[in-house]
Amino acid sequence: MNILTMLWKNLWGGSQTLVFPARPAEGKGFRGQVHFNPEQCTGCAICKFRCTSRAIEFKGGKGEFTWSYDPGQCTFCGRCVEGCKTHALSQDAECPPLYLTIHELKNVYTVARKAPAPRPAPAAPPAAGENAEPPAAGGAQ
Ligand code: SF4
Ligand code: SF4
Repeated sequence: MNILTMLWKNLWGGSQTLVFPARPAEGKGFRGQVHFNPEQCTGCAICKFRCTSRAIEFKGGKGEFTWSYDPGQCTFCGRCVEGCKTHALSQDAECPPLYLTIHELKNVYTVARKAPAPRPAPAAPPAAGENAEPPAAGGAQ
């Protein structure tokens, strides 16, 4: 294509971009933004380490922790959701709303740490003289 044809196309080809606030529809397979359920979160921070775009931040405290998510930094890859063992994270196809300033969509949750589940008591050892295993049926007499 010579330069004149290119110029002609650029001048008369019409707009190739959408005018704000219009935006293209989400592509097929779009996973959507991440939702957080503080009730199911144990504060393990695995999601933070799996998120390479730093959309998730985690700050541990003594009796609580702070978890935050910024859809404006999210690539919607789903790695955090896949890595959460307690299913505290989920995704739906909802597209984040339009935003004009950085971190405008950020959600911050402060979650109280849950008390660890009590450990089961260890089994008591058999008393002296007590046969730990029952005699086998039809054994020696
Ligand atoms: S959301 Fe899941 S992976 Fe992230 S801190 Fe909570 S339990 Fe861990
Ligand atoms: S979906 Fe991907 S980019 Fe978005 S918060 Fe999870 S790991 Fe990070």
